[in-house]
Amino acid sequence: MFYACQRVFVLFVVLIVAICHGDRLSAQPASGESATHPVTDERIAGADSEPANWLSYGRTYSEQRFSPLDQINVENIDRLKLAWYVDLDSKRGVEATPIVVDGVMYTTAAWSIVYAIDAASGKLLWKYDPKADRKQGFYACCDVVNRGAAVWGDKVYVGVIDGRLIALDAKTGKLVWETVTVDQSKPYTITGAPRVVKGKVIIGNGGAEFGVRGYISAYDAESGKMVWRFYTVPGNPADGFESPEMQKAAATWHGEWWKGGGGGTVWDSMAFDPELDLLYIGTGNGSPWNQRLRSPGGGDNLFLSSIVALRPDTGEYVWHYQTTPGETWDFTSTQHIMLADLNWRGKTRKVLMQAPKNGFFYVIDRETGKLLGADAYVKTTWASHVDLESGRPVETPNARYDIDRQVVQPGPFGGHNWHPMAFSPKTGLVYVPTQELAFLYEDEKQFKRSDSNFNLGINFHAGALPANDADAAKVIKAFSGSLTAWDPVAQAPRWRVHLDDVWNGGALATAGNLVLQGTNRGQLNAYRADTGEKLWSSDVQTGVHAPPISYAVAGRQFIAVSAGSGTALGLAAGQLASHSLAPNRSRMLVFALDGKATLPPAPTVARAAPAHLPAVTADEAALELGKQHFLTHCARCHGENSVSGNVIPDLRYAAALTAPEQWQGIVHDGALVANGMMAFAKWLDPKQTEMVRQYVLSRAKALSRP
Ligand code: CA
Repeated sequence: MFYACQRVFVLFVVLIVAICHGDRLSAQPASGESATHPVTDERIAGADSEPANWLSYGRTYSEQRFSPLDQINVENIDRLKLAWYVDLDSKRGVEATPIVVDGVMYTTAAWSIVYAIDAASGKLLWKYDPKADRKQGFYACCDVVNRGAAVWGDKVYVGVIDGRLIALDAKTGKLVWETVTVDQSKPYTITGAPRVVKGKVIIGNGGAEFGVRGYISAYDAESGKMVWRFYTVPGNPADGFESPEMQKAAATWHGEWWKGGGGGTVWDSMAFDPELDLLYIGTGNGSPWNQRLRSPGGGDNLFLSSIVALRPDTGEYVWHYQTTPGETWDFTSTQHIMLADLNWRGKTRKVLMQAPKNGFFYVIDRETGKLLGADAYVKTTWASHVDLESGRPVETPNARYDIDRQVVQPGPFGGHNWHPMAFSPKTGLVYVPTQELAFLYEDEKQFKRSDSNFNLGINFHAGALPANDADAAKVIKAFSGSLTAWDPVAQAPRWRVHLDDVWNGGALATAGNLVLQGTNRGQLNAYRADTGEKLWSSDVQTGVHAPPISYAVAGRQFIAVSAGSGTALGLAAGQLASHSLAPNRSRMLVFALDGKATLPPAPTVARAAPAHLPAVTADEAALELGKQHFLTHCARCHGENSVSGNVIPDLRYAAALTAPEQWQGIVHDGALVANGMMAFAKWLDPKQTEMVRQYVLSRAKALSRP
């Protein structure tokens, strides 16, 4: 019955919503009230029968990010205007997908702060700050972001950056339970959105840049008690294996891999097929990245860079497909996992699709894990192709860097990263935020584990941009982004929109024949889903990394997007971001036809180095030492060459540069720890701290002056 409704729906959205779901709409509070119907598995599984809501991360368990709403469409999109906005208490990156249940939006911002907002008016209903220890920001490789909440029953679930999982009362925002999901003495972080499947809250974590062992866990949604845990890489065999799969996986590793954690963290993607009763998870890169150091002698290193199918009730392993055996490039398979039923070579196949970092778009039979297709969706130099018989990539001679340094494409940023894709069942296309950029991999011959820096096993700064800004700009010109409409059956792009920068936002497809995507520089754009023709653009004053969503309240369709520059680009690639990332203004922005809201004018960001910079007194050798300390301890947040990416303070402009004692107080003693700035006394003595100041001072003096 709802299928018939869905088809007619294309033409008469408001009317048909009323016919199909008259009860729910009329019972739905116009504004200000919390959900009256608890969210259930049945509701999420039947999400297509209530298109006004966005009940889970990817809207449906299949994570297609397609909205059946079409009140906003190619004919009237010029009337799409800002309806309301809410400022979020954050100056760091925002990545959240909001959840909308019966007129209430639940969303998150940096530091895992949770908001409930009236989805029609933008009125704040409640806010919950889990008060994450700001020192934990030090172990967030890619900013203290949060990709969103899950709502189930009468509760809201959020993973906190410090490793907690919390359950809040959806009506009041009061804490119901919280549980610590990680060993907090280790550099674990949570940035991903939980999913709720069969009464269990599923959550993974990150930390493989620093050195942890990956796993995913399920917690009882009512009590918060752990139900199961699935490790993605084997631990120390001497401790015994948790499962037969871990024993098998251990045969694909060499050396003492467990000492560095191994990696394989499950920091983002999941999908669920209720019919097959399979939960799909994506696993991350090796820890350290460099396989020569991680598993000397090679091996596939299961289950790194894999898609693993599990039983949601028990966490029992069913099948896996490894996209990058013997991972050594930070090639994660944590990217968006999307399920669809495709007409594949004349037969309907239940498939799973993923465009992981490594540059190949995979179509996999989701019942068995058998590879059906894999073709390059961006330039790839590490593998010539994927062999469909063996299911394995065919590596090129210049892929691995254990003997010589290699320029490899894609690099650690991936041909596609965490930014969600979208699938339109109407066009049959998958809309992928793609990018073209290479990376120089150089083996770190003198690798020594550090507790203040990434542990990658490569010289991360070998390919640093030129210190001179004009020269850096020339290099950056070679990088680009795109929105690619990928035909998964033809295994080729149908259309591609070129974007000047890398690291653009996630995508939304709608029944209005629209695809929406934000950009780093601060635009939200809309394209025709069938042709890629650009139809609409709005200046939103800040970088948009998160994917838009769509929902309706009282028959009015809205398009919402979390905005706020930051994330991995703003931190780990600060100098690159300095050329392409708009300043941070963290907001929830919501658009509708004939919306009446306007943003306040964007303040001009005037940056000036302190007026009277003192002289650099260090000699060249000391400056070089200062630079090395900076690269080891500071650059992964404040940017290579001391050029930061518009999110973390650019130290060349820091007032403390002129005040050596204040500099010591901040860098050595931790005066700004409440802002997330760690005390470095553990790693730098006062003399070394001063050398860093001298180096940054020399960089500040190199700034061109009016
Ligand atoms: Ca990684």
